[in-house]
Amino acid sequence: MTSIPFNRPFLAGSEFDYMRQAVERMHISGDGLFTRRCHALLEKMLGAPKVLLTTSGTHALDLAALLLDIQPGDEVIVPSFTFVSTANAFVLRGARPVFADIRPDTLNLDEALLPNLVNERTRAIAVMHYGGVGCEMDAILPLADARGIPVIEDNAHGLLGQYRGKPLGSFGVMTAQSFHETKNFSCGEGGALVLNDARYLERAEILREKGTNRSRFFRGQVDKYTWVDAGSSFLPSDLLAAFLCAQLEAHAEIQERRRRVWEYYDAHLRGWAAERGVGLPCVPVHCRQPYHLFYLLLPSAQARRHLIAHLGGQEILAVFHYLPLHLSPMGRKFGGYAGQCPVAESVSGRLLRLPFYNDLTESDQARVVAAIRSFEGF
Ligand SMILES: *Cc1c(COP(=O)(O)O)cnc(C)c1O
Repeated sequence: MTSIPFNRPFLAGSEFDYMRQAVERMHISGDGLFTRRCHALLEKMLGAPKVLLTTSGTHALDLAALLLDIQPGDEVIVPSFTFVSTANAFVLRGARPVFADIRPDTLNLDEALLPNLVNERTRAIAVMHYGGVGCEMDAILPLADARGIPVIEDNAHGLLGQYRGKPLGSFGVMTAQSFHETKNFSCGEGGALVLNDARYLERAEILREKGTNRSRFFRGQVDKYTWVDAGSSFLPSDLLAAFLCAQLEAHAEIQERRRRVWEYYDAHLRGWAAERGVGLPCVPVHCRQPYHLFYLLLPSAQARRHLIAHLGGQEILAVFHYLPLHLSPMGRKFGGYAGQCPVAESVSGRLLRLPFYNDLTESDQARVVAAIRSFEGF
């Protein structure tokens, strides 16, 4: 019996050819031809005025926090059910993360809680579109705008998803994308900062280039480049951009593959799940998802533990997801306590993600489905 992993890297076809071209062009440092091609592709996908590749999604968030001039003592609202980087970016600037609970349906930040969480110290609201299903931006943006609080999107799951017909990633003043191995499009490690507000554009280029005006120099706008701000190095090698470019160009094929995987699970598990009281991903009609993941929400933590073991016995790797940030050792330092975000606490213990990758075959999916259906543990 061959084992079915949770995730598998995928080659769209042109990756090595593009990497070889980057080498032959004698430009493998940052901001070469393939970086520019990725920028253009992403700007088109997102309808964004400017996108800058970064070394990771985490670094895109770090850059966003730098650009917002987050200071010690500031507060930033983040969902408790997200990857650590959503909070860490602001914590690194000295801010205090204020953890918000999530909606029980989409597992996104619960917008109804925001009025009680914002105060005069709130300097940003960071939202994360779980599984690429949009947060309720129609409620979040007016509330933030009325108080002059910038919204940052962690769109690591959501590239090509839409909320009310508009691309996820186009709502916040800035958005972080990730091209980590586990994401829909990947170059192993990589990310991008999406700049939707022209106010941050010039400084973003500077901070990403070690605090220098090197980008302006290369465009011929200044005759030498120099140190003009505090910054760091956030730009990836053009070799990685070449790899990523091949994947982004193949986005239609990749998304079609992922749609088939998602819909197979949905078609073959929806009835079983309803009978067993198991939850499946919820995609509201006004949201279009980019087929990032598929999960089961089991009735109890014990059922999940037993199902993981049952699947493991058949060489199928299913994995849980985020532990609530407010209950982590770091979250507790910021005052996190049990019961603070009850939905995140409950969901986190019961959610199980199924194997999901671009070339997952229908016969392997059939094996996963049969293994789940044969589980008698609850
Ligand atoms: C993957 C991910 C990140 C981090 O991206 P990296 O590229 O691995 O740094 C951030 N937030 C979320 C929600 C993610 O899933």
